[in-house]
Amino acid sequence: MKTNGTAPIKFYNGNQIPVELHKVRIVQKLHLKPIEERLTAIEKGGYNTFLLNTEDIFLDMLTDSGTNAMSDNQASSMLRADDAYSGSQSYYRMENALREVFGKHYILPAHQGRAAENVISKVFIKEGDVIPTNYHFTTTMAHIEINGGKVLEIYTDEAIKIKSDHPFKGNIDINRLKNVIKEYGAEKIPFIRLEASTNLIGGQPFSMANMREVREIADKHNIMVVLDASLIGENAWFIKQREEEFKNTHIKDILLEMCAISDLLYFSSRKVTSTRGGGICTNDKDIYMKLRDLIPLYEGFLTYGGMSVREIEAMAVGLYETTDDTIICQSPSFINYAVNELDKAGIPVVTPAGALGCHVDAMGFLPHVPQEEYPAGALASALFIISGCRGMERGTISSVRDENGKDILADMELLRLAFPRRVFTLSQTMFLLDRLQWLYDNRGLVGGLKFVEEPPVLRFFMGRLAPVSDWPQKLAAKFKEDFGDSL
Ligand SMILES: *Cc1c(COP(=O)(O)O)cnc(C)c1O
Repeated sequence: MKTNGTAPIKFYNGNQIPVELHKVRIVQKLHLKPIEERLTAIEKGGYNTFLLNTEDIFLDMLTDSGTNAMSDNQASSMLRADDAYSGSQSYYRMENALREVFGKHYILPAHQGRAAENVISKVFIKEGDVIPTNYHFTTTMAHIEINGGKVLEIYTDEAIKIKSDHPFKGNIDINRLKNVIKEYGAEKIPFIRLEASTNLIGGQPFSMANMREVREIADKHNIMVVLDASLIGENAWFIKQREEEFKNTHIKDILLEMCAISDLLYFSSRKVTSTRGGGICTNDKDIYMKLRDLIPLYEGFLTYGGMSVREIEAMAVGLYETTDDTIICQSPSFINYAVNELDKAGIPVVTPAGALGCHVDAMGFLPHVPQEEYPAGALASALFIISGCRGMERGTISSVRDENGKDILADMELLRLAFPRRVFTLSQTMFLLDRLQWLYDNRGLVGGLKFVEEPPVLRFFMGRLAPVSDWPQKLAAKFKEDFGDSL
């Protein structure tokens, strides 16, 4: 596939602008409501952005999961879906796409990424096992632990620094990996897990060099390498941009090499493409046979795995599109633009720009809000009130309490603003940056939050909070003073 150019495109005036390399053909109306209505909405939603209704939201930057824009080719492919419980042609088209794009022969479909994690963890993890990984993901960790395993995060010192210019903050620390194998013994390690574009530390990639080193160590000890490929396209894009050896390599070949290094890979199609779904791929028949029988038990027959045939068709097309630079560069280049603009303005943000979204450092933004009052949650609420933009808290609210009921404070307090692929335009991005600038200049008005209703597990999804003072009203009043009736 020949590329049609990638963003950012150089302008005559020297600017680097992330031009949209697509045109808009189907649109959805958005709602930019008066600030009074947004205040009511966030109060009703318990100061938790998960509990908002999109009717009240202007730019929905909660997540990239299932929210990427579909292409014309994906949408039209859904019309030819072949409804069949078994042997559907749609399934075979997807199987072929996976074989070509990931270079793996044996394919198992699953209804989501976490469903693949369930099957893999059930088969390979025993009580007392440890799983070394570059960083955990919420659902991955839950499945590993429920099967008696323990996650060992062996990231490098750069990984959780807010400001860094390290191009590959998602790398595994190779010396720590060697020590972990020595300490626990290879027999306690069913696999090493590598997550592409490491989600929870800011969408940060690992390098091919790091992946090759992990493979070498794994081979020495006869340990499997498992790749979480949910954000593989963007990781491949960063390898092309940031790793000298690959600057002239086609994304397609970078993807194939990443996949070849792993014994088994799994993915969430909600991220790789824009449809619900997921799957597991391997070239090892023994691995395939161990996993196969759990698919009909948990997911559905082997030719649909819990997905609709329409989704399967769109997924097949989306997989091919993942190998196209013109498509895959879109989200990272908009994130890069946003991160650089925020950084230039002195607004604290995770650098370098990664995949998935831009991550504002809430402790740097709101140093007067103690971590016990959830600065990232407060910042998410404040931004929604003044702009209608919805982000996601990734800090202590997303953490848990210890046995004494005290909050375990998160490593980082981040407000994640996701840029799903090809969804937002440059002027919308500029609107977000403008409102963040206003909020930063008025940050002293933002106060903390406290829980009023706290579920015992995964409290960040359904928990309800309240402001510690009347700061939301004061913030809204100042906004009205500065912007008048402008929304
Ligand atoms: C989203 C995600 C998952 C889980 O996938 P779902 O389709 O949401 O179940 C697993 N790993 C990573 C890295 C993810 O980003």
